Amino acid sequence: MVQTKKICTACGTQFPISYTDHLCAICMEERQYVPAAGQEWTSHDILLKTHATEIKQLNDKLYEICITPKFAIGQRAFLLISEHGNILWDCIPLLDENVIDFIRSKGGLKAIAFSHPHYYSNMNDWADLFRCPVYIHKNDEPYISEKGNNILLWEENELPLWDGMCLINIGGHFAGSTILLHTTMSEKGTVLCGDTFYLSPSMKHFAVMYSYPNRIPLPLKEIKRIKEQVKNINFDSVYGFYPYQNLPHNAKEILMDSLERYLQ
Ligand SMILES: [Zn+2]
Ligand SMILES: [Zn+2]
Repeated sequence: MVQTKKICTACGTQFPISYTDHLCAICMEERQYVPAAGQEWTSHDILLKTHATEIKQLNDKLYEICITPKFAIGQRAFLLISEHGNILWDCIPLLDENVIDFIRSKGGLKAIAFSHPHYYSNMNDWADLFRCPVYIHKNDEPYISEKGNNILLWEENELPLWDGMCLINIGGHFAGSTILLHTTMSEKGTVLCGDTFYLSPSMKHFAVMYSYPNRIPLPLKEIKRIKEQVKNINFDSVYGFYPYQNLPHNAKEILMDSLERYLQ
């Protein structure tokens, strides 16, 4: 039998052929969990047959990329269209012709950047195909299952990119948890946050947690530190982990109120 890289069906992380552990390292970590039914694996070849990518335009500079039917945690990636080079924000485990053709039609990728390890999936395949670097905060290096040649670790608090885009290390959920601030996408600025901030279905509260599925809170001193950091960032819009987590107005006020609520 030909050996192929394997993808965890619970979290979507792809592991190299050399990974022979029975359980997925990301699911075993205390922020995720191995499903009660047990560990299951798939491969990219199988995913190509059973799933497809779905692309939706959110505004003139932003596209959402999901997998249908839902796979793993239901992650979504974003394609940010920008004059001096497009960015893929976060990643999904399926790289099919539909998404490849679409991204190429928009000018390809200048970089891939990550919020945190729950999105790493098959990032090396994306980076190899589009010949671009992958920005990951150094604090999250221990969670990289396969350190491909395109991975570029950064360790500052902020990493300015181009066209008014900047990566900011917020920490919290993971020590390397990062947001992407886009200063010109909306009137006051737009934040892409993965689940560094977790918008509630009411659209009126953000949770900020160490683990969302396992309901493990962050220490209050961490919330306090995050609040001080967020205070200095200007934005009005947030796009989060899931497709329902699009908040086009008053996002900073809602996040600051939510953080204050933890501290009361
Ligand atoms: Zn997993
Ligand atoms: Zn996460």
